[in-house]
Amino acid sequence: MAINENFEMISLIVLLFVFIGLLAYSIINNYSLKRNLYFNKELFKDLFLHVKEDILFIDDKGMIIFVNKEAQDILRGDIISEKTHVSNVLKAKGFYSEEDIDCFGMAQERTQMGFKGYMTKEETQGKHLVTGTLIPMFFPKNEYRGTVIVLRDVTQEKRSEEIIYNVTNYDKVTGIPNKNYFMDYLNLSMQTAKIENKMMALFILDLDNFKTVNDIMGHSVGDELLRKVANGVKDMLEHGSQISRIGGDEFTIVIPSANRINDILAISRRLMNLFTDPWELEGKEYYITCSMGIAVYPNDGEDVENLLRNADTALNNAKDLGKNNYKFYTRTMNTSITERFDVENRLRYAVERDQFVLHYQPIIDTKTFEIHSCEALVRWQHPINGLLTPNNFIGIAEDTGLINALGELVLRKACLQHKDWIHEGLPPIKISVNFSGKQFRDSNLLLMIKRVVEETNMDTKYLEMEITESFAMHNIEYVIYILNELKKMGISIAVDDFGTGYSSVKYLKLLPIDVLKIDRSFIVDVEISNAQKEIVKALISLAHGINLKVTAEGVETIEQLNFLKNHKCDKIQGFIFSKPLQSDKFLDFYTKEWQKNEEMLSLR
Ligand code: C2E
Ligand code: CA
Ligand code: CA
Repeated sequence: MAINENFEMISLIVLLFVFIGLLAYSIINNYSLKRNLYFNKELFKDLFLHVKEDILFIDDKGMIIFVNKEAQDILRGDIISEKTHVSNVLKAKGFYSEEDIDCFGMAQERTQMGFKGYMTKEETQGKHLVTGTLIPMFFPKNEYRGTVIVLRDVTQEKRSEEIIYNVTNYDKVTGIPNKNYFMDYLNLSMQTAKIENKMMALFILDLDNFKTVNDIMGHSVGDELLRKVANGVKDMLEHGSQISRIGGDEFTIVIPSANRINDILAISRRLMNLFTDPWELEGKEYYITCSMGIAVYPNDGEDVENLLRNADTALNNAKDLGKNNYKFYTRTMNTSITERFDVENRLRYAVERDQFVLHYQPIIDTKTFEIHSCEALVRWQHPINGLLTPNNFIGIAEDTGLINALGELVLRKACLQHKDWIHEGLPPIKISVNFSGKQFRDSNLLLMIKRVVEETNMDTKYLEMEITESFAMHNIEYVIYILNELKKMGISIAVDDFGTGYSSVKYLKLLPIDVLKIDRSFIVDVEISNAQKEIVKALISLAHGINLKVTAEGVETIEQLNFLKNHKCDKIQGFIFSKPLQSDKFLDFYTKEWQKNEEMLSLR
C-alpha cells in the first residue's frame, strides 16, 4: 500500500509541476490566466490521456475547467460539461461523503486534504466507493487559483478485502467463526477478564465418533451434523459467548466473563443435554454424543497457549474415560509427561546427530514456465521408522524449543546445497526456507541467520524466508523489525499458508513482505467451486494491489493451473510439476526432465 501511495504522490507532484509550468509559461506570454487555461486545454487532454488516475481541475469558484477521460468514465461523461460547479456534478451522481463535509469548500481554505464517499457509477453497479485527493493551487502570490482533484474508485479493493476477511474468519461449512477468529476472540476475552477481574472459560467440544458418521453416511450428512451442532450450541449460548469451529469436528466455546465456577458448570450441563436427544439428519434420527474439556482463566492458564493446551488435555481425559462426558482441567492430568519426554529425547538426539535431510520442490513461473525457485522441506531420517515428514515432529520441536537448533540446521543445509548445485552447473535459483513462528521468540534469531549466511558464503539475494501468519499475533512491531533487518541483508520474505492462520489483511499491509503463498486448501476445489474461484481471484488482486507476488501451493491439475495462469497468479508449486525431491533428483529435474517435458511446456 505504501508503495502505491508513494506512486500516487509522485505522479501528483509531477502533474502539479507540469500544470504550474504551463501556467508560468502562460503568464510569461502575457495572456490572462483563464484564457490560457482554455488555450492549453488541448495540451492537457493529450497530457492526461495516458494518466490512469481520474483527474478534475476546478477553478477558485469550484467550476470545472478540465476533466480527463478516466474521470469522465467514473462520473459518466454525459452530465459533465465544463463550467459546471463540481458539487453539482457529484450531487447528480448521488455522491455523499462519509464524513459529511463540504470537501470543496474546505479545499478553498487552503488545506490539502482528501475525502471519501459513495456515488452511483452506473445504475446496474450500485454505489461505488470513491476516494479523492485534493490539491489546492496557490499562485502567483499565494492566491488561491483552484484545485486538482484526483478521484479513485476503490470499490473493488474494498470488496476483495471483505471477501478475504470472511474467508479468513469464518468456517465454510457451518458459517460460524473459524480458528482465526476464535484466536482473536480468546485473546480479547482474556484481556477483558483480566481488566474486569473475572473468570473466563474455554470449552473444547469434540463430537464422539464423527469419523464414523462421515465414513458411513457420507460427507454431506457429516456436514449437516456439523451445521446442526453449530446452530444448536449457538442458540443455547448467552450473548457474548462465542462458538467457533477450529477443526474437523472440534468446536470451541468461549464464555468471556463468569463470576462463579457454578455458572460455568451450569453451561457444561446444558451443553451435554443438547446431545441427549437424537439429531435428525436427512430424515433419520441419530444419537451422537460429545466430549468436552474445560479450562478456566486465570486458574488453568494465564495466557492463550496454556489455556488452550490445558483445555485440550482435559478433553483427552474426557475421551480416555469413555467419551460422552466433560472434564474440567486439573493439574494431575498431565500424566503422559513421561511419554512426551521420550519423544523429546529422541528428537534432541536426532538434532545432535543430524538425522535430517532436505527435499526440494520446484516453483514454476507461470509466464515463462521456467523453474523460478525451490522450497526446501525438511525430513527426519529416523533410524527405525524411516523417512518422517515434518507433520510428525515440527510440533514437538516447537513445543520443546528444539525448533531453534533444527531451524539453524535446515538453513545451513539449504545454503550449502545452493553452493553445491552451482558447483555442479545449476544456474543460481532462489531457495525458500521455512521458519516457524516460534523461532521469532529466540532473541538470537537474527544473529543465527547472519552467522549461517556468512559461514556458508550464501548470496542472500537467492535466499527467501517463508513464515506462517501466526507469528504476527503477539508482537507485530518486533516481527516488523526482524523482517526489515532480514530485508536489509537482501533476504526476501514470503507469507506461507495464507488464509489458514491468524493473520489478516491488516497485517499484510504492515509487513515488509514480497510474496504471498495461497494455501493449498483454497486451490483444491477451485475448479468446481465458484465461491472458491472468487476467493482466489480476490486474493491475487489484493496481493497485486499491494505489490506482492503470488505463489499458489498444492496445484495438482491442469484445470487449476489454467485458472491460476489466466488470473495472473505469478508462480505455481505443486505435484502437477513435481513432488519435493532429494537434492540429486532435483538437479536431474532441473537439467534434464523439465527441459524435455513436452506436455508441460505445451501449456506455456
Ligand atoms: P508448507 O510450507 O506448506 O509446504 C508445502 C507442503 O505441501 C509440503 O509438505 C509439500 O510436500 C506439500 N505439497 C506440495 N505440493 C503439493 C500438492 O500438489 N499436493 C499436496 N497434497 N501436497 C503438496 P511437507 O513437506 O510434508 O511439509 C509440511 C509442512 O511442514 C510445510 O508446509 C511446512 O509448514 C513445514 N516444514 C517443512 N520443512 C520445514 C522446516 O524446515 N522448518 C519448519 N519450521 N517447518 C517446515
Ligand atoms: Ca512453506
Ligand atoms: Ca505453505
